[in-house]
Amino acid sequence: MSTPDDIAASLDRRPLPLPDNVSVPYWEAAARGEVLYQECPACGQRQFYPRALCTACAAEPEWRTASGRGTVHTFTVVRQNWAEPFRELAPYVVAIVELEEGPRMMGNVTGCAPEDVHIGMRVEAYTIAVDDGLGVPFWRPADTG
Ligand SMILES: [Zn+2]
Repeated sequence: MSTPDDIAASLDRRPLPLPDNVSVPYWEAAARGEVLYQECPACGQRQFYPRALCTACAAEPEWRTASGRGTVHTFTVVRQNWAEPFRELAPYVVAIVELEEGPRMMGNVTGCAPEDVHIGMRVEAYTIAVDDGLGVPFWRPADTG
């Protein structure tokens, strides 16, 4: 049985993201503790995941730093995963979080019991750095005080 925070602490044993030419800035920012999304300077479209072109007008998007605040748009509780190291971490939460800036991204909600996660829940990002070029964002309940 794992604690809710074990899912983030397991990062050194998990398959890691492979940054490509487009997403390198995103992963490097996460290593510094920031969460980035893209915004188009031509039309204002905001998007995530990272792409070379704006999905609305095909201009080249720019990077913006998110506040790190968002809400749970939807989620699932993973109760079975036979692949290591996830096997001993279940149950854990995989959520789609909507940034307050608009784009949505997938991640684990940690820091609370899976049964406490709900749609509309306010969450905040934190990141764990693997090295200077790669960090991974996670989510936890936002301080509502
Ligand atoms: Zn655009």
